[in-house]
Amino acid sequence: MMRSMSERITESLQKKLSERLNFYEDLGVRLFYKQRGDLQFQSAATPAIETFTASPSQQIPYEEAALPKSTRKPEFPKPMQTAPRVAPPQAVRMPDILQAPAGPLLFEAFDKVPDDTLLKIRTDLGECTRCKLHKTRHKIVFGDGNPKAELVFVGEGPGHDEDMQGLPFVGRAGKLLTQMIEAMGLQRNDVYICNVVKCRPPENRAPEKDEVGECSPFLLRQIDAIAPKVIVCLGSTAAQTVLETNRGISQFRGQWLEFRGRKLMATYHPAYLLRNPSAKSEVWKDLQKVMAVLGLEAKKGKSAEAGKSS
Ligand code: URA
Repeated sequence: MMRSMSERITESLQKKLSERLNFYEDLGVRLFYKQRGDLQFQSAATPAIETFTASPSQQIPYEEAALPKSTRKPEFPKPMQTAPRVAPPQAVRMPDILQAPAGPLLFEAFDKVPDDTLLKIRTDLGECTRCKLHKTRHKIVFGDGNPKAELVFVGEGPGHDEDMQGLPFVGRAGKLLTQMIEAMGLQRNDVYICNVVKCRPPENRAPEKDEVGECSPFLLRQIDAIAPKVIVCLGSTAAQTVLETNRGISQFRGQWLEFRGRKLMATYHPAYLLRNPSAKSEVWKDLQKVMAVLGLEAKKGKSAEAGKSS
């Protein structure tokens, strides 16, 4: 006799599905499932995470979503009006575990713009209408922080709060990111924070390939202009976009990678941590590696307890 769907789905699978849906919800991905039934997300009932802490015993294995595989070859972004190509392309060395996609890498097409500055880049971006995201945005979220930062955080794209304020990471996930930065012994204005796309994708959906293609040259220029020692990619979209891979972030998270001659670390997105506080200890380990390279000492106190207690 045919068993009903709920009989066939084990309790542990239901739990996993529920966690995965909550994770997507945190990232703002809501459109691909219409009825959640019992799995209705409970983010409103979830208390804000006050400290950047988690015990290793809480850890659960998981992997952030991989970007859907594209059948299209990576596209060359259009040349920018004010970004002449001058130097020979600087190859992106893909880490051994990541296989380079067939065809040219998105970022190989771009060379350094001589004497570039964040101001020039912002001016070139202008009141951007290069992709459809401009139609629904309120404010462009260019980036924020120290233009000479040694550490740059790259997120996915603005959410609602960021779109309203024109600043990156100012919502719930942003508050957690600020705690993470402070736990590292830094202040927010010591680092630079930006996103792969500068305009909010509607319904907080993941940015689409054409949107990333139009916007990522500006991210690249920002990174080159700031010339940080370390880039930290927050979450799958940032990491997979910059590294041009469809691999799940769990496969290369926490490992030193190289991007245009700079050290790059991919770690989980703070929005993921809001849903999965047990993953904080993993992120804290990643950030400690970053701190070692930057010669930073963890802030004493509650935040520095990260990885030890919940
Ligand atoms: N999530 C992101 O990826 N970026 C932001 O600026 C805010 C939330």
